[in-house]
Amino acid sequence: MDERDDSTYGAGFFRDWLTAAAAAVDREADRLTELDSAIGDADHGVNMKRGFAAVTATLEKEPPATPGALLVTAGRQLISTVGGASGPLYGTLLRRTGKALGEDEQVSRPALAEALAAGVAAVAQLGGAQPGDKTMLDALVPAAEALATSFATAREAAEAGALATVPLLARKGRASYLGERSIGHQDPGATSSALLIAALAETAERVEVAG
Ligand code: ADP
Ligand code: MG
Repeated sequence: MDERDDSTYGAGFFRDWLTAAAAAVDREADRLTELDSAIGDADHGVNMKRGFAAVTATLEKEPPATPGALLVTAGRQLISTVGGASGPLYGTLLRRTGKALGEDEQVSRPALAEALAAGVAAVAQLGGAQPGDKTMLDALVPAAEALATSFATAREAAEAGALATVPLLARKGRASYLGERSIGHQDPGATSSALLIAALAETAERVEVAG
């Protein structure tokens, strides 16, 4: 179902999104670690769990007033609590997306799509990767683009992007050390990115149902 284009989303929505994301990461932590044990160092589930638990704890203690401030706070928290490569990358994603949202109290989906694209571009710049390199960008780039259409298509694009990493050769991160042996495995970061975007779509769906 298409969301109404005039819907706007406040800080509460963004807090609900990250809470749903933390629950999804918690639920899927073993799977993320399993994927990372095939082509990495088996810590992606643990990293994500630790990071998102810290994010929700911080947001509960002192919830920032605007969507932008909330994402900046969450991003900072990820950077300071996650040791792996994914911490600074996801932290940058949320911080830069939050910065791009500015100080608006309510944001539209198209505005969020634009801000997310800025966040994704910052991840690409920080990590030096591009789509096709078998990283989180393979889910995030199509998701940000599809978010201009709807939350549901963003979710589908992220999930398709994560699945499409299976036949790819890893060119960035630890998986790249494996060379050809990285082929045939789904990228853990693209998989967690799809979880985050699915949590966003589910949170938006709940708002729609509540009317
Ligand atoms: P680490 O690789 O330090 O153990 P994680 O296991 O938490 O960190 O995260 C691994 C994921 O991070 C990979 O599956 C990949 O999606 C993502 N990643 C690694 N390096 C990069 C990079 N340079 N650019 C984008 N994403 C990357
Ligand atoms: Mg790892």
